[in-house]
Amino acid sequence: MLSIIVPVLNEHESLPQLLAEIVRSGERHGVEYEVIFVDDGSRDGSWQAIRQLSDQDERVSGIRLRRNFGKAAALTAGMRAAKGDLVLMMDADLQDDPAEIPNFLSKLNEGFDVVNGWKQRRLDPWHKVFPSRVFNWMISRLTGLKLHDHNCGLKLFRAEVAREITIYGELHRFIPVLAHAKGFRVTEIAVHHRERQFGRSKYGVRRFLRGFLDLLTVKFLTGFGQSPQHMLGAIGLTFLGVGFLGLGYLAVLWLLMNLPPLWGGAPLIAVSPIGPRPLLAYSVAATLLGGQSLSLGLLAELIVSNTVREQATFSISERAGRREV
Ligand code: UDP
Ligand code: MG
Repeated sequence: MLSIIVPVLNEHESLPQLLAEIVRSGERHGVEYEVIFVDDGSRDGSWQAIRQLSDQDERVSGIRLRRNFGKAAALTAGMRAAKGDLVLMMDADLQDDPAEIPNFLSKLNEGFDVVNGWKQRRLDPWHKVFPSRVFNWMISRLTGLKLHDHNCGLKLFRAEVAREITIYGELHRFIPVLAHAKGFRVTEIAVHHRERQFGRSKYGVRRFLRGFLDLLTVKFLTGFGQSPQHMLGAIGLTFLGVGFLGLGYLAVLWLLMNLPPLWGGAPLIAVSPIGPRPLLAYSVAATLLGGQSLSLGLLAELIVSNTVREQATFSISERAGRREV
């Protein structure tokens, strides 16, 4: 069974047409499906529309969040309620075309766990399209998962993927990356994209700064999430090393100049005083930074060691043998 999850924020005009298109597409692909609308705190009557649709069609159900929690939270609520072994997510604004669903299903059957949409001819304003290109290029470079459109609203994945990745905040942009990091096979197909007919886009220009910060988070989580000290500690040791080198050099100079006179001899070298030297300031700063980074790393390790008890740090793809393992 296929569970279609649709996060909804103030999209009441689109919902009836969206459902009609999903039903039409469902007749074509012939798979049993359910539609879960998740109302993410709409204030425009979207919930009433969802209730109406779920009264008319028994395959349709709705979840209403108490306030606006964001798309990632809405998707998570939908995925927890989903009964299907396949999960398809799509936007509520009619920009994603339900007629694409059969193509997603057949691509998944070629042996993938995640099929990501790619809005090849994207019908959004340029101030969205251009930064999004840069963003996709950056994600692909940094995470090693090369996709044209990481944040496409239309995606199909197996229920295991939904169970094994955790999205919160605005991490819905990184579903393929998070799945890829768990070892799931991810691919993409080009999809037909449409202009927004009703309502307004929920994301402004600020999305790009936030998206960039989230990219750093995801890079850190997928790269060093299990061993943060490997990154923070390495940075810390580097800084400490540089700091100690500088301080050591200055200490030797000081000793050569000041020790012999203590025993009544002449200074071995004559150099300017150590106190005002820039090198001293830099070395002290590096030592402090190094110590900080190292202890931050230890703190992070403490948090990880306490959380891994509840979360699996691996992902199983298959089992063999008659014994339950
Ligand atoms: N959405 C949501 N909660 C939010 C923001 C957006 O559920 O806080 C939904 C919205 O209703 C739509 C989808 O996420 O179905 C994508 O939003 P939008 O179309 O505004 O994004 P864009 O296509 O402009 O990137
Ligand atoms: Mg949209």
